[in-house]
Amino acid sequence: MRVTIFGTGYVGLVTGTCLAEVGHDVVCVDIDEAKVEGLNRGVIPIYEPGLSPMVKANHAAGRLEFTTNAAQAIEHGDVVFIAVGTPPDEDGSADLKYVLAVARTIGQHMQRTTIVVNKSTVPVGTADKVRAAIAHELAERRTNLVFDVVSNPEFLKEGDAVNDCMRPDRIVVGTDSPQALEKLKRLYAPFNRSHERIVAMDVRSAELTKYAANAMLATKISFMNEMACIAEQVGADIEHVRQGIGSDPRIGWHFIYPGAGYGGSCFPKDVQALAWTAQQYGCNPRLLDAVEAVNAAQKQHLFELMTRHYGDVRGKTVAVWGLAFKPNTDDMRAASSRTLLQQLWDAGARVQAFDPEATQEARRIFGNREDLHLCATAGEALQGADALVVVTEWKQFRSPDFARLANVVKDKVVFDGRNLYDPAEVEAAGLSYYGIGRGRSL
Ligand code: NAD
Repeated sequence: MRVTIFGTGYVGLVTGTCLAEVGHDVVCVDIDEAKVEGLNRGVIPIYEPGLSPMVKANHAAGRLEFTTNAAQAIEHGDVVFIAVGTPPDEDGSADLKYVLAVARTIGQHMQRTTIVVNKSTVPVGTADKVRAAIAHELAERRTNLVFDVVSNPEFLKEGDAVNDCMRPDRIVVGTDSPQALEKLKRLYAPFNRSHERIVAMDVRSAELTKYAANAMLATKISFMNEMACIAEQVGADIEHVRQGIGSDPRIGWHFIYPGAGYGGSCFPKDVQALAWTAQQYGCNPRLLDAVEAVNAAQKQHLFELMTRHYGDVRGKTVAVWGLAFKPNTDDMRAASSRTLLQQLWDAGARVQAFDPEATQEARRIFGNREDLHLCATAGEALQGADALVVVTEWKQFRSPDFARLANVVKDKVVFDGRNLYDPAEVEAAGLSYYGIGRGRSL
């Protein structure tokens, strides 16, 4: 099938590549000329495990093309995906300017019956706005071409996006058009071989499903962080509590890890956007507001622990392991590390940071500052450091040599923002240990 995808970010590039991988003929279009030019030379703009060789192979095979030419791209596709960003507006609502700009472009260039599929995470009612924007452009052109607007929200997770895309849990398709549903079933058939994964529904339910999924996951995290806060105060260890509840299948092991707060481009903005939508419709989003408030507080918790230990961190050099909002990605959007670094700088501390993939992104965000040294290795970040803070749970941070840490880290203290370590083991090496919700260490 001939497919066009607007947006070559985490979602557009991965989706386009996976669709090409199963044999579709895909054209990806982006307004970022440098990105498109790089992709055509085999430079992959994001870090995502397994993505780079797949892009190169499909590009070389002629099934995956990159362009800035929207008109040609629209001409190519029977199905046209919108996979551009929906960043938060100042009031927390989702900013639809990129989505609606693509809709207008489609309306301006469409030459035949087209199925427009919205993959961006958008508030309920956006399909109507996309439909209206396309119809407006068609009316300007005095044509009455037929088109459908389908909601097909994306559930891939950064860090495992290729796998999620190739083996989706479910494929939500929101449409009231049997023809459009049939077409998407054909498009997704290669991902659907072992069992039926398509969950068909109306457009508004599909739009809300994406927010409900992210809000539920964010709620689990904030719930555990609140439990961690209680555990810390009452002298309990949240890691024992986690083990004690995760085995209950009604609760499950996923997303019950306490930590330094959730970040990334989705949970923070989607929880806020859903709360905003709720308010627009007269619902009071008490739970969503609390989820967000708990998370905002949790992002400050590592700094609170440091202040508790030191009183004042002025003049301290802090080794930070992990900058990305989670492992296996270079994405630092709304990452907890950004809150911590800013707090450390405001308090007069220096930072020596290491991340296996996000160094370039950190350099782009922070520029050159005297109080930030971006290191090439985890060991380099420790040289001359007074304390170690672990912010992202990359695998390579999981079992450091604690005896060596005790020799190198001057103040012999570890702040473990992801509860990677056994406090007793760390303390046995002569280090002080602070984790999240580990009351026993206080
Ligand atoms: P991104 O910021 O990584 O990429 C968006 C891309 O769209 C950029 O390359 C940008 O240049 C391009 N773009 C903007 N306007 C354009 C236009 N008019 N024409 C063509 N390209 C244009 O965004 P992302 O992380 O891929 O997210 C895209 C959407 O998918 C968002 O709504 C997001 O909430 C949702 N989503 C993201 C994830 C994720 O893990 N990142 C997961 C599921 C859903």
